[in-house]
This record gives sequence, C-alpha cells and structure tokens, in this order.
Amino acid sequence: MFVHSASAHRPIERLSQVIPAACPRLPDADAVLPYLRRMDAARTYSNFGPLLTAFEARLAERFETGTAVVTCVNATQALTLTLQALDLPKGGLVAIPSYTFVATAHAVVAAGLIPLFLDVDPEDWMLRPATVREALKQAPGPIAATIVVAAFGAMPDLDGWRALRDETGLPVVLDAAAAFDTARTADIPTVVSLHATKVLGVGEGGFLATTNAGLAARLRQLTTFGFRGARVSDIAATNAKLSEYAGAVGLAALDTWDSDRLRFLRTARLVRAAMTYLPEIRFQSGWGDDWVTSVCSVRLPDGSVGAIERSLQDQDIQTRRWWDRGCHANPAFNECPRGDLQVTETLGRSVLGLPFAVDMGEHEISRVAAALGSALASL
Ligand SMILES: *Cc1c(COP(=O)(O)O)cnc(C)c1O
Repeated sequence: MFVHSASAHRPIERLSQVIPAACPRLPDADAVLPYLRRMDAARTYSNFGPLLTAFEARLAERFETGTAVVTCVNATQALTLTLQALDLPKGGLVAIPSYTFVATAHAVVAAGLIPLFLDVDPEDWMLRPATVREALKQAPGPIAATIVVAAFGAMPDLDGWRALRDETGLPVVLDAAAAFDTARTADIPTVVSLHATKVLGVGEGGFLATTNAGLAARLRQLTTFGFRGARVSDIAATNAKLSEYAGAVGLAALDTWDSDRLRFLRTARLVRAAMTYLPEIRFQSGWGDDWVTSVCSVRLPDGSVGAIERSLQDQDIQTRRWWDRGCHANPAFNECPRGDLQVTETLGRSVLGLPFAVDMGEHEISRVAAALGSALASL
C-alpha cells in the first residue's frame, strides 16, 4: 500500500478506480502559511520582494558560483525573452528538435524568429550537436541560434553543445523545462519550468539560470517594463514578473525538495521493478536511478502506442502522449522549415506517458504493470 513520510504529505483519496496519467503535488497550505505570514508583515506582494528574492537566491545555489537566476511567469516566456535578450537577427532560424513540447516552438515564434525542426537521437530522444552542424551547412537560411531540449528531464550531452557553441559561435540555449533535478550548470543559458506538472512546481512559473551576468540583467529588464533599477524604460519590454505568492510556494517546495526527490526516486524504482518482466518497455536512461522527473515516458514497440493506449483506457488507466508526434505535426507550425524527421515520427508511434505521481501507491503500480503486460501480449 501507500507509503509516506512523516511530512505533511498525505495520500490522495481517489473516489474512482481510474488511475490518472498525472497527479501533481505542490506544497500544501500548512507548508506555505509561514511564508504568507511573512508577506502579511512585509506588505510586499510583488516587484521582487523578499520572498521571491530569497527563492531566486536558493535556486541559484543549485548551480555553479556566479550563476544568476531570473524568475519569470512561466518557462515559455522565459525562453521567448531569453531569445530576445540574445538580440538575434529578426526572422532568423532557430534550430530546435521537433520532439519537444509545443512551448519550445511557440517561444521561438513569439520572439520573432522561425523554428527549424530537426530530428533527435533514437537512444536519448534529444537533438544532437552533429545534426545542428549539418543543418548549419544545409538550412534554407542562416541559423541564428539553437535550443536543445532536455527530454522529459534527462540532461543532453552538454560538453558536445559547449564544443559546438565554442567552435561555431552559435548561441545555444537549453530548454530544461522539465529538468529541475538535472539542471545544475548554467554556462549554457538554462530555462527551467516551475509549472504544477513539473517535478518542482509553484503553479505557473519558470526561470533562467545563467553565468552570463549581462544576459541575466537584460532578461530581468525585459520582465519588468525595461526598467533597470530606476523607473525608466530603456528598451521595449513587458511584464513577466512572478509575485511574492509564487515565491512563497517556491520556498516551501525547496524546503522539502530533498525528501520529495527521494520519494520520486523510490516511486520510480517501484515502477521499474514492477515492469522488469516486460522487456518490450524501455525507460529513459537513468530515469528513477540517476535523476527524477514528474513523468514516466516509456518506449513501446514501434507502432503500438494507439493499441496500448486503448487497452489501458479500457482498464481505467489513463496515459498521455506528452509530446505526441512532435511539434512539426501541429497546424500552428505547418509553414516552418524542417529536416528529415524519421526518428521523431518513430517516437510519435512508440513513446507513451504512463501514470506517474510522487505518491503513486504500489497497488496502482501493480495494476498498471499488469494491464500493460496484457496489452503487450495481445498486440
Ligand atoms: C513544460 C515545458 C515547457 C513550458 O513550460 P511552462 O512553464 O509551462 O511555460 C517548455 N518546454 C518543455 C520541454 C516543457 O516540458
């Protein structure tokens, strides 16, 4: 049955037998209350008050010294504004993997740039530096930057990306939206999401971590009307600040992160153990062993996603095709240029998000494993 620590976390009572694809858990009211009381005393509710400032400082401690953290209303905006802060030529191409959440591509378009969809590695599902190197020669126009995406929280080969950046001068940004756990260096500008569905959430929120002080200052300015200390707009900008309420939830989430991380690891290991007799299922490398994330995306036999999904649905088990067939398949991006996307197409037919939550019980895990076993057997 359900195992939980002595913390404020309690199992969720589910009235139905349906196992949801995701069941986020943010700090509960009691954990946030002490921070809300500080707000009552400080009478500061936004504009970089003490809570958000403390939250940013604690986030920065997770990265190398000299890292600045700039929070933002969400990771999509943080990506858009980071691209703007890089001052790339208008209408330039930004090489991105098609296999990502649509937010990556939306951020590029919102920054006045054009996504160039490229394929990913069949093993780790991520864009490879070699693919971008190739595209630099063959793209339909000059490539202004590239965004590499940390697939569902796995970390790409950062050394390879540093080498590409240093050799070509191409700006590299890391969309580590789902990678709160594994994003621990910031010499490549790194954007992390704090959305409720991610592994550490405040509801809506995100941040950029960077060792480039100039980039951090520019992004900050873009999130707050172009102000730089004084109430003078130096540049065209917007309002993308987080409030003290988000800071309060973020601080409470960080207070229990170490134990929450262990609970994610433990649940993931139970999932892996329950599925050891299903050799057709492949987990992401290191998932639940070296790193944690809030989703359980697995690789199934090629072409089986639809059948497995229906079979699980019939057994009241919800699944989610988190990145579905890739961004390029969405009507919004019909006009965007693309390379060969064979691997992405294959992943669209074979990757499925199984139910996963930090407090998923052993009974639920067994049910999913059994249902998956019978679904695979009847393929
Ligand atoms: C979740 C996610 C985003 C968007 O993050 P928000 O904070 O919801 O805007 C962007 N990219 C990837 C890869 C994501 O998983």
